[in-house]
Amino acid sequence: MTKLDSTLRTRFAPSPTGFLHIGGARTALFSWAYARRFGGKFILRIEDTDRERSTEESERGVIDGLRWLGIQWDGEIARQSEANARHQEVIEDLLTAGKAYRCICSREELEQRKQEHIARGDKWTYDRKCRDEDYAADCGTHVVRLKLPDTGMLGWVDGVFGESGQDASEIGDVIIRRSDGSPLYHLAVVVDDIDLGINFVIRGQDHHSNTPFQLAIYQAMGVEPPRLAHVPLIVGKNGKKLSKRRDPISVQQFQEEGYLPEAMRNWLTRIGWSHGDQEVFSSEEITQTFDLEHVNHSSAQADLEKLVWLNQHYLKTLPMDQIRDYVLPFLEKEVGGSVQWDDALAFYIEADRERPKTLVEMAQRARFLLLDDDALQIDEKAAKKHLKANIAPALEQLRDAFAALGAWDHESIEGAFQSVLEQQNRERSEEQGEMKMGKLAQPVRVAVTGGPVSPGIHETLMALGQERSVTRLSNAIQAIRARA
Ligand code: GLU
Repeated sequence: MTKLDSTLRTRFAPSPTGFLHIGGARTALFSWAYARRFGGKFILRIEDTDRERSTEESERGVIDGLRWLGIQWDGEIARQSEANARHQEVIEDLLTAGKAYRCICSREELEQRKQEHIARGDKWTYDRKCRDEDYAADCGTHVVRLKLPDTGMLGWVDGVFGESGQDASEIGDVIIRRSDGSPLYHLAVVVDDIDLGINFVIRGQDHHSNTPFQLAIYQAMGVEPPRLAHVPLIVGKNGKKLSKRRDPISVQQFQEEGYLPEAMRNWLTRIGWSHGDQEVFSSEEITQTFDLEHVNHSSAQADLEKLVWLNQHYLKTLPMDQIRDYVLPFLEKEVGGSVQWDDALAFYIEADRERPKTLVEMAQRARFLLLDDDALQIDEKAAKKHLKANIAPALEQLRDAFAALGAWDHESIEGAFQSVLEQQNRERSEEQGEMKMGKLAQPVRVAVTGGPVSPGIHETLMALGQERSVTRLSNAIQAIRARA
């Protein structure tokens, strides 16, 4: 049985850059799923200390991406910039307690001493020149450094990587406040995590190497560090790092390409994590089964084919009213105007939902329905192949048969097709051979949809309606005659 822990608090701490990276989204999913699984809270903290890059707009990209994925955070959004005074207060406290000190070594001096060290074959960490000087606040340009222990492991048992850590002697007295007075990022992260009561940090593997230094800050502050787990970064299928230029890396990009949040959430969760051989996970299943034991240690490969497969799965199986809400904006984009969701459109999308891979494709395939009959453009290649002069008489007969139908349903449409095929086959010579359904259905499809792909011809015509089908057949016949 899962042991619930209502005191558990995880967080996602993105630096806003205008979009939600799929790696960040996956880390957020893991943190969120873990908190939900064990009955804890999931906090969102925007690390917006880089004021130049952190605009409201760049924040919105991250927040919208999380919302779209269905990741809900608890309580208000925390902002790192709002805690600036608190960061300064902690630095001052550490100075007062003698756990940190002011250092006036200039960059040039440091560089020179570093080179001398290296020339002697020694490893360089700050040589503690200012450590015992006790410089006061008025000492001029200075940074603040944390006093690290001489030796001793700054270690932890990582939730994914197990025993981890680094000896303090390899780190040296690191800076926690720059000469311009701004706190170092690592200090801000630690202070914020403490103040928000975060007791389990789940984050990207790129922060694994920062952790010993952050543990030293916890130690100096006399605060028990949280549990920590670092999740491997997402790489491409070839094992290479994702590149902004080559790969789709933002959640928004996938959204625009017509992937469903259900598919995206499922796909991201399954990258580098498994639960038996289960592939399809609803949001509830994710939050009921997620664990860190089954997060892979090696890098996590993003397989786009799997995403396509999942997207098709959800396009086929989600309730129709959900599909309607998802596809409507794509339809509107496709036709460049507002779209009325009516029975015909619903019927068509339902009939076609097994085929498209994305919402973009779903909308493209429904485009013909939404256009005015006179605005329908027939694909040239399809016209050349399927709308030849010799098919015009059959299309004319069919158009007349359609126009005469009293009912417009699968059966009546089929009846009209059969009667035209019979008529044609009575009139056709031996070398013309028998005309079969496919030979007639494809030209009809091209005539009414403008292209060679659509669901069953009956469904296509039913969705289009009797009058419009007749008009489009007439238009196509006219075009054939004009070309002849
Ligand atoms: N803001 C950091 C990032 O976006 C995350 C810091 C952390 O999770 O500790 O990479």
